[in-house]
Amino acid sequence: MANSETRSEPISVEAAAALLRAGHLCAFATETVYGLGADATNADAVLSIYETKGRPRFNPLIIHCADLAMAETLALFSPLARRVAALWPAPLTLVLPARPGNGLADVATAGLDSVAIRIPDHPLALALIRATGRPLAAPSANPSGKLSPTTAEQVIAGFGGRVPVLDGGPCNSGVESTILRVNEDGLVQLRAGAMAREDISARLGLPIDVVEEGAAIAAPGMLLSHYAPDAQIRLNTTPRPGEAYLAFGKAEAFDGPMANLSPGGDLREAARNLFAMLHQLDAAGCQTIAVAPVPEHGLGEAINDRLERAAAPRG
Ligand code: AMP
Ligand code: MG
Repeated sequence: MANSETRSEPISVEAAAALLRAGHLCAFATETVYGLGADATNADAVLSIYETKGRPRFNPLIIHCADLAMAETLALFSPLARRVAALWPAPLTLVLPARPGNGLADVATAGLDSVAIRIPDHPLALALIRATGRPLAAPSANPSGKLSPTTAEQVIAGFGGRVPVLDGGPCNSGVESTILRVNEDGLVQLRAGAMAREDISARLGLPIDVVEEGAAIAAPGMLLSHYAPDAQIRLNTTPRPGEAYLAFGKAEAFDGPMANLSPGGDLREAARNLFAMLHQLDAAGCQTIAVAPVPEHGLGEAINDRLERAAAPRG
């Protein structure tokens, strides 16, 4: 699609919802920044977010819901979580325990058993999620490493007109949402954002802790180690007897727990299978999982990043 074409044909909510339901991406306005949206229950659609942004690592994405009923299908809400969720719609993301069998793609939550959810305070975003009838994964709609866009024009320029945009005019806040983790005993701010911690605290009448400096900066990256498997991981290798084997592409038969990310050597298929297969092999109870080499191009970069983190020594 040519740049000028995208610009001259504003997309309607219905058309945007139809694209999303069919597994395509659509950028949309929110009150924080423009989001690059995908059906969060569709692994291929979510992987397109990574490909389109050129994002080199799988970090968990914020899942955008239309209302509390939709949010409750995805996460378990404690009484405390309900109290905080009463502030929605707002530029406020809550990290909550995932509801088992919630239908979200593994790649949307980076295989974690928690999920980051928010209800955006923007009529167009809400109309889109409602019309789509699915929760939307939506990181900022910019190529990885570039500034977050606050107008549809910036989104169009950033992706060279390749991504349709539901234009809601300039974003109100221009800053990402504040992220709070809701623990059993209180609230912790994981990322400062558009809603000031003091304001949230005052409105709820509750204290909000902050993750210590350093930890705060490392939080998104360190999340990956939350999910570190129990088994040791050996990379770029073939398995020894007694190990489990995570293969990629053509692989010799192996007498032990084995899974193949993609027998045909397809990186997209490998990305789709990555989290589930790591869990599966980890559950087999071997001390070590040997992992075959995965090429470093396209989605391979994010796959390898995740494998390297899983293999990193833990303290
Ligand atoms: P964004 O790129 O603006 O969509 O922000 C995504 C960020 O949300 C991630 O980098 C994490 O910091 C945070 N996040 C998402 N899911 C979780 C989760 N389950 N636990 C903790 N933080 C999360
Ligand atoms: Mg961003």
